[in-house]
Amino acid sequence: MSLADRSAAEESQTCLGHRAIVSLRNVHKSYGAFEVLKGISLDVRKGEVVCIIGPSGSGKSTLIRCINGLSAIQSGSITVDGQEVNDPKLDKLALRKKVGIVFQQYNLFPHKTALENVMMAPLKVLREPRAQVEERARALIAKVRLTGKENAYPGQLSGGQQQRVAIARSLAMRPDVMLFDEVTAALDPETVKEVLVTIKELAAEGMTCILVTHEMGFAREVANHVYFTDGGIIVEHGKPDQLFKNAKDPRTRQFLSQVL
Ligand code: ADP
Ligand code: MG
Repeated sequence: MSLADRSAAEESQTCLGHRAIVSLRNVHKSYGAFEVLKGISLDVRKGEVVCIIGPSGSGKSTLIRCINGLSAIQSGSITVDGQEVNDPKLDKLALRKKVGIVFQQYNLFPHKTALENVMMAPLKVLREPRAQVEERARALIAKVRLTGKENAYPGQLSGGQQQRVAIARSLAMRPDVMLFDEVTAALDPETVKEVLVTIKELAAEGMTCILVTHEMGFAREVANHVYFTDGGIIVEHGKPDQLFKNAKDPRTRQFLSQVL
């Protein structure tokens, strides 16, 4: 490789490293006459962990659902990997494969085992061969530290264990981006940590993660960037240290004083 070629390759790699995989520009979303998102813009680069914090009702869940195409927006733009999410011609299945989502309520199929829950989408949606799907599902269950629980039904698992099955189920679609909407909010305090450890490990492996969370310690430790939302706008954003130690906006400071 010539020197010129090499520097071109390096440059394109740098560009790739800085390219936003999820990009929102001036996103507006209303429910009827009620405007929930009032011009949200943010960028998430590949491998980044971005946390969204803010009071209840500020539009965080709506924002997450819009990124996954579960909720339509009225104006602005949301792109995932360069594709406009609200393009009516967009292949919704391709988008859902690319963007995994985990909710507060894990909604596992109660009459299916942990392993079957993880295998379901690759079998039914991707129509991949069973043996291959099972091998991968077992590996994912090991990854979320649930080896030995493959044949347990959701009702036999703790909330934290069920949530980790839900994460494995989402990972089974091989997403490029994972969205987490308050996934620890319904858990007992002692199981919150095990779920956060799983997410932390995913982040360390380079998974792009967008998390709505009330776990400020986690946000501070794991996030590359934190956004504070209130009333449908991004009030302030920055690196965790800056936001948590030196918030500029009184609304951010007020919120942090209540949750820290
Ligand atoms: P957060 O996750 O920050 O608590 P949400 O995105 O859930 O906020 O909700 C933002 C606002 O939008 C709230 O006032 C909520 O009542 C309203 N809202 C959410 N979903 C709907 C819906 N499907 N229809 C009407 N209003 C909704
Ligand atoms: Mg919410």
